[in-house]
Parts: sequence; structure tokens; C-alpha cells
Amino acid sequence: MNDIVLKARGVRKRFGDIEVLKGIDLDVTAGEVLCVIGPSGSGKSTLLRCFNHLEKIDAGRIWVDGELVGYEPHGTSTDVLRERRPREIRRQRERIGMVFQRFHLFPHRTAVQNVMEGPLVVKGRPRAEAERQARELLDRVGLADRGDHYPAQLSGGQQQRVAIARALAMEPTLMLFDEPTSALDPELVGEVLGVMRDLARSGMTMIVVTHEMGFAREVADRVLFLDQGAAVEEGSPDRFFGDPRHDRTRAFLSTVL
Ligand code: ADP
Ligand code: MG
Repeated sequence: MNDIVLKARGVRKRFGDIEVLKGIDLDVTAGEVLCVIGPSGSGKSTLLRCFNHLEKIDAGRIWVDGELVGYEPHGTSTDVLRERRPREIRRQRERIGMVFQRFHLFPHRTAVQNVMEGPLVVKGRPRAEAERQARELLDRVGLADRGDHYPAQLSGGQQQRVAIARALAMEPTLMLFDEPTSALDPELVGEVLGVMRDLARSGMTMIVVTHEMGFAREVADRVLFLDQGAAVEEGSPDRFFGDPRHDRTRAFLSTVL
């Protein structure tokens, strides 16, 4: 069994003249929680978007569950010569749950309906089964009594927990979080981080872009510091925060700790 859930090699991405990712190598193993930190504009969101097919990479390879998902379009070896088909991309995307800074819930659907949508439409699940699963997931994120509320009737923290339940409803093997608490009022951050902590403890494989250093310290198995599109330093939270080796890491940490 391959216990590497995500593997990236030499991932490069440019927007016009700017190279935003300058050759990223990364392995994330099953059950691991990787926190990615770094200054604004360092390429954190772009990296997650490349993992989830929201951006095409210019060079390198990305595998999820051993299957090639991102690849260099003009490579020379045979496995990269063929364009990915939309259906293939969609199927691969289903294995990856993504939670964004903004919650992107359907405003005219209740919490339960938001969570059911993917299984119902994408996976073709029977409605009753999808609803039962949705209510279970809302219970898991502490919102058992909010299932029939509309997004506008929920706080930001509650909406983000619905968004997490919605991602989980697709039964992903990998969850990506892009600053999931940075749009929240400070008093609502804890409830979302609590749900993420429980998810990590349940064994979910997670990549979390965050400015919450307390969360990274406590929950991450590994911390990666990205700066100007390069992976500058990575290590266990104890080592990373206790003994940062690179000047750029130290400079960054001094601004956020
Ligand atoms: P971070 O999430 O670390 O703040 P991003 O990945 O959002 O960084 O952005 C990295 C760099 O790429 C920034 O300079 C940003 O302006 C640029 N960038 C991101 N997305 C696009 C895009 N779609 N078009 C052009 N430039 C982009
Ligand atoms: Mg970002």
C-alpha cells in the first residue's frame, strides 16, 4: 500500500513574467497534517490550487493517491503527452476537499442542502441517504441543530463549519484548507480550529495554509515555510518554531509570533 497521499516534484507555476512557484517538492503521507506558512504573496494559495487542478502547472508532477494529477504539459516522457480529460480531472478532484477563506455556500440552500449537494449531484446518491449523511456531518462539526438554517442565519464560524462538512461529504482522501479562519471575527476562530483539530485527530490527511501559529504548533505533524515561491524550510513544529534554521524563516516568525 502506498501511504503517500500527495507527492509533488519540481512544481513550477508562473503568471506572466512572475514565477510564483519555483520548483516545489513535497510528500504528504496518510494521516499527516502539514501546515504551510509564509508571507502574503509567497505562493501558498497557488500551491493548493495546483494540487486541486484549479491551476495548471508549467513544470513538474503532482500525484494524488499514486495517480498523476498535475504534470508538465510539454514533457517528453509518454505519460505526460496526453491531455487530461475533463472527466478524469473531475474524478480526481472529488478525492480532494477544499476549504477556502470565504465559505462559498449556496445562499438559497439550507446547511443540510449545502452539504448534500455534492453527494447528490456528483455521486448520484439517493436523497434520503445523502440527507442522513449530511446531518451526521453537521453533527460532527457541532451544528446538529442548525441543519435547516440558511447561510445568512449562521455566523461566519458556523458557515465555515458547514463548508468543512460539505467538503467531507465527498469523502475526500485529502483536505486542503486555505486560511480558513482569516475572514472570521477573532471570537469565531476557535470553533473552526477546534473542528479542524478533531478532523486531524480522526486521521484525515490535511494541508493547512494558516497564520494561526498556535494551531500549527499544536496540530501539525510538519510545518513548511514558503517564501517567494520556494520551500525554504520544513520541520516538526518543535524544531521549526524552537530552532528555525534559515534567516528568512526567523525574520518571518519574528513578525507573526
Ligand atoms: P499567497 O496565498 O501566499 O498570499 P498567492 O498564491 O495568492 O500567494 O499568490 C502568489 C503570487 O502570484 C502573488 O504575487 C500574486 O499576485 C500572484 N497571482 C496569484 N494568482 C494570480 C493570477 N491568477 N494571475 C496573476 N497573478 C497571480
Ligand atoms: Mg493565499
